[in-house]
Amino acid sequence: MLNVPSQSFPAPSSQQRVSSEGRSKVPLKPGRSLMDWIRMTKSGKDLTGLKGRLIEVTEEELKKHNKKDDCWICIRGCVYNVSPYMEYHPGGEDELMRAAGSDGTDLFDQVHRWVNYESMLKECLIGRMAVKPTVPKGMLPKSQVTDTLAKEGPISPSYDWFQTASLVTIVIYTKQKDLKLDSVIVDHQYDSFRAETIIKDYSYLIHIELSHEIQEDFSVRVIQNVGKIEIALKKKENTSWECLGRPLENHNSFVPKKDAGLYYRKCQLISKEDVTHDTKLFCLMLPPGTHLQVPTGQHVYLKLTITGTEIVKPYTPVSDSLLPEFKEPGFPDNRYIYFLIKIYPAGLFTPELDQLQIGDLVSVSSPEGSFKIPQELEDLFLLAAGTGFTPMVKILNYALINMSSLRKVKLMFFNKTEDDIIWRSQLEKLAFNDKRFDVEFVLSAPTSEWKGKKEHISPGLLSEFLKRSSDKSRVLICICGPTPFTEQGIRILHDLNFSKDEIHSFTA
Ligand code: FAD
Ligand code: NAD
Repeated sequence: MLNVPSQSFPAPSSQQRVSSEGRSKVPLKPGRSLMDWIRMTKSGKDLTGLKGRLIEVTEEELKKHNKKDDCWICIRGCVYNVSPYMEYHPGGEDELMRAAGSDGTDLFDQVHRWVNYESMLKECLIGRMAVKPTVPKGMLPKSQVTDTLAKEGPISPSYDWFQTASLVTIVIYTKQKDLKLDSVIVDHQYDSFRAETIIKDYSYLIHIELSHEIQEDFSVRVIQNVGKIEIALKKKENTSWECLGRPLENHNSFVPKKDAGLYYRKCQLISKEDVTHDTKLFCLMLPPGTHLQVPTGQHVYLKLTITGTEIVKPYTPVSDSLLPEFKEPGFPDNRYIYFLIKIYPAGLFTPELDQLQIGDLVSVSSPEGSFKIPQELEDLFLLAAGTGFTPMVKILNYALINMSSLRKVKLMFFNKTEDDIIWRSQLEKLAFNDKRFDVEFVLSAPTSEWKGKKEHISPGLLSEFLKRSSDKSRVLICICGPTPFTEQGIRILHDLNFSKDEIHSFTA
């Protein structure tokens, strides 16, 4: 028999290997992929040992289950037996054991708050933590802890409302000046009206069941100089409202964004177009009751139910084109979200996404991400590999249209072959039309006809490419691609004496 080493899983390119801030991923044994785990949860096997019963778990009880073969973890008040999941965890058993017998919520949130653990671990649910009757001395109850945290951040916003015969206007006073229209996300679905305002790293939520019906369309206005947001709702009937409505979960709360749950709304697939042999441009339409704009450099999560389990993956919206003449006529930017997505035939999520028919629904989360483009830049360098090009699309559009201080924008785009290059002709045309922009394609596995650069990211390549327009020019370098590419790139940039503030890397 041939001694062929088994392919490690996740594959080196798999998202299940994506790490942030140096978290390492371990190769999983064959038969231990996410799909295998989903099959296991559907097998009818008793994964808790409790034969379907749910119990109340005390802290003392939780502490006892701290071994690999008997490991309970609490996430947001729910206790799971994660022993059967150990071998399937992409971060490895040791990572999971860090929370053994304890509350792993913070650890979980640090690493992958977006992973839908409720769905993935539902067969491992032991029960809820028993509520403590008294608060131990010296500790604040949770609500006060949140208040204390909020006091360290920006000042809590407040809201009010007023009406005319035909309109109800909700006014949010943020007490912040630099607010933009994309800081407000509004969703009106069935009985629930939600308006989430993002202020620095905090989230302010208005969540109410309105007392009367409203029409589908509403307007959102931000009055920047006073930090005021006005949401004007059109009454269905011109009667006077005595109250705005009934408060729903977390109404009027102001919490660190990481503690606010991710909210999803269902969007319709409008079109799907081939861009390269394996990458497609997907267009999704937001529901009529949603106001959402994804800020430049941020991503959202797409959610699909795959064989009964909700699977969530991050994607970075793009504009529909880099060039004005390619823009879809009559498609207002704020109703449609575009994605460039590479379909991996052996992947879990993208083949399912590719199977969707026009008109089918996909859940889309609110935006996440930390990217902020500095205002006064002279040189912008973009290092993208494969679909790592996606955050660069909006950055490029934004920079070339809005940043008058810019002298040079340079994109170095790494791909395997010529066929893999996304929007090559658009990029070449943009470079031709706008003298501030240059693009260079670097291929790692080109055909013999390729006349351009043939290599991987390297110090020589970057030192030649990253030439400032003047000695003291203000520079930003954005980098995005497969994790080893990004990590290698960051190391090289540090060696080339670029400071942390001059580098933004896109990771999960
Ligand atoms: P996965 O299941 O993760 O598989 C990926 C690779 O691993 C494939 O090559 C597959 O063949 C291989 N593989 C899978 N199972 C096995 C196995 N058992 N053994 C060996 N190999 C295996 N991607 C985009 O295309 N566009 C974007 O805009 C985008 N934005 C992103 C933004 C962020 C912040 C991040 C972190 C990632 C982004 N990604 C984007 C990547 C995206 O989230 C997914 O990781 C990607 O679509 C792959 O998902 P998948 O489930 O289809 O593949
Ligand atoms: P790919 O496998 O086709 O590789 C593209 C290029 O990346 C290669 O030609 C090579 O130059 C470089 N590269 C690949 N592996 C490398 C390695 N081990 N060391 C050094 N360089 C390497 O790329 P793809 O399949 O399009 O994958 C794109 C990646 O970008 C995915 O991992 C995806 O998750 C990530 N991505 C991240 C974000 C984000 O974090 N915001 C957004 C989009 C895509």
